[in-house]
Amino acid sequence: MNTQDINRRIRLVMDLRTKGIRSADVLGAIERVPRDFFVPSSVSDQAWDDMALPIGRGQTISQPFVVASMTEALELTDRDKVLEIGTGCGYQTAILSKLCRRVYTIERHRYLLEHAEKRFEELRLRNVTAIAGDGMKGWPKINGLQQAPFDKIIVTAAAKDKPPAALLEQIRVGGKMIIPVGPPGEQSLKLFQKESDEAYSVRNIMPVRFVPLLPNIAEDSE
Ligand code: SAH
Repeated sequence: MNTQDINRRIRLVMDLRTKGIRSADVLGAIERVPRDFFVPSSVSDQAWDDMALPIGRGQTISQPFVVASMTEALELTDRDKVLEIGTGCGYQTAILSKLCRRVYTIERHRYLLEHAEKRFEELRLRNVTAIAGDGMKGWPKINGLQQAPFDKIIVTAAAKDKPPAALLEQIRVGGKMIIPVGPPGEQSLKLFQKESDEAYSVRNIMPVRFVPLLPNIAEDSE
């Protein structure tokens, strides 16, 4: 790491602290995970700025402030098993992997997933399991093995009017889910806490702009 790289990392962390991110663990993860490694080389000089950037297939890597806010709201511990919907380039996944026991992540674009998996390999993130699929259906049983319920769920694409039922079901009682909800232009980041098998509390965190959560695995032409 050269001096310029270290300075850019420190500047981003200070920027996020000014904007209200308090968790030292979250700020530490942002400082350690090389965001420049996750974005296309055409925009890598902006990788340490607090902004969303394109990652291909019409998708975006979220703004670091939004990644930090969502991660902070989950109050992760090193015992947590986390489900992420919308792997994208894998940046949010990498942040989670530093702060919890294991991350299960689903992406509907195979192309994005394959590239994200290569990055997890190169960065030696050993506690990540990634699959291509429709995350609106939750984590599937694989070879008869059920991973649900999860301590925490994070969805990085926006549900149009309400969270998918399959995801609410896969939160353990006492667990939390963070998810953007609403139509384009009117999305709000919501934190659900599962109080019992049927009851949830909901808190609005902030207005946000995410790409939509879409059903089924993507066609190659999409
Ligand atoms: N966390 C990502 C953000 C990517 S944008 C990052 O750090 O890069 C949201 C992603 O959600 C897109 O890659 C999109 O393809 C994916 N997505 C949308 N609907 C989905 C679904 N039903 N299942 C899985 N992934 C989905």
